[in-house]
Amino acid sequence: MASYNIFLLPGDGIGPEVTAEVEKVAKVVSDAGLAKFEFEKGLVGGSAYDAHGLAISEADMARAQAADAVLLAAVGGPKWANVPYDVRPEAGLLRLRKDLGLFANLRPALCYPALAEASSLKRELVEGLDIMIVRELTGGVYFGEPKEITNLPNGQKRAVDTQVYETYEIERIAAVAFEMARKRRNKVTSSEKHNVMKSGLLWKEVVTDVHKKSYADVQLEHMLADALGMQLVRWPKQFDVIVTDNLFGDMLSDVASMLTGSLGMLPSASLGEADANGKRKAMYEPVHGSAPDIAGKGIANPIAMIGSFGMALRYSFGLIEAADLIEKAISDVLAQGLRTADIKGQAASSISTSAMGDAIANALKKAI
Ligand code: NAD
Repeated sequence: MASYNIFLLPGDGIGPEVTAEVEKVAKVVSDAGLAKFEFEKGLVGGSAYDAHGLAISEADMARAQAADAVLLAAVGGPKWANVPYDVRPEAGLLRLRKDLGLFANLRPALCYPALAEASSLKRELVEGLDIMIVRELTGGVYFGEPKEITNLPNGQKRAVDTQVYETYEIERIAAVAFEMARKRRNKVTSSEKHNVMKSGLLWKEVVTDVHKKSYADVQLEHMLADALGMQLVRWPKQFDVIVTDNLFGDMLSDVASMLTGSLGMLPSASLGEADANGKRKAMYEPVHGSAPDIAGKGIANPIAMIGSFGMALRYSFGLIEAADLIEKAISDVLAQGLRTADIKGQAASSISTSAMGDAIANALKKAI
């Protein structure tokens, strides 16, 4: 039986509570003989600052580098609002993304039928929605230089951010999107603003070239980012995989996430370059933060965290069937009417973090 080393970073706030539920689900997969998981735990964010005065220690960075996958919950909280900037909790996340070279951020927007009412859109528009946003994560306007505010002689100020992409950055993210589409419904929508931005022109040209050279079997369409924002709320089910840059991806993935109801439901993956064996560095994390307002109360929704583990099985370990079964177990539990407080809606009562983890683990045990 294959064995995988997962480096767990529970982080702060509700992080440790939701992480504990992953271990229950992982045990069911191991007990069924599908794979073995070795969990090693580390500290990141405020908890690392309290222990070492750093947002992540060198020893934990080395463990993250050596692991088959990193599973991180969330960092931050008011307790660390005034720590020095370079050791603030988010610095741990940024260091992990940078040092592991995680350039591809995958954010699925999945709407479970039982939760369609929680969406801001009509049920028929979102029920069964399943789209994947592939966002470029290490380039573009968030990192481009110059990036500065300067004082002008006339007393005014001038702010500059630089949107910059090189061919290789677009090629590798496009390849991730096309590969992903082949395992899904075989369609990629590439999005930029080539009508007003040079970086958009290059983006469109390079994606078209990559498609022609290596992925002509996948359906490709191009859509301006503003039009895509509009289409996401008009008719989201037209999309399969959307590939876009760092800035547009940041915004569009947040729009897509609201289509599905609650933050507590959304997993994500960040992938690095494939090595000679096709293996990628990878980090999986829920989209939500550390939710300090509910930390320690045992009421956090563990589904985004369990879904992030499911993504690790799918994208790092090739355990597609087990990943499908985890998604099905989540769907079954929701269909039974079980809800944590954040997704309670009109339901009569809600269950705890731990009861939700148990219910998903039990549903998985039955299905596996
Ligand atoms: P948040 O995602 O932590 O919380 C927003 C709201 O959603 C809160 O009301 C919270 O209770 C609720 N919520 C979030 N996750 C939930 C879950 N699993 N179950 C039930 N309810 C859930 O965002 P915020 O309040 O803006 O930020 C809180 C802290 O988290 C800040 O320190 C922020 O910097 C940090 N943060 C970290 C990450 C990360 O680690 N990737 C992401 C976003 C925010």
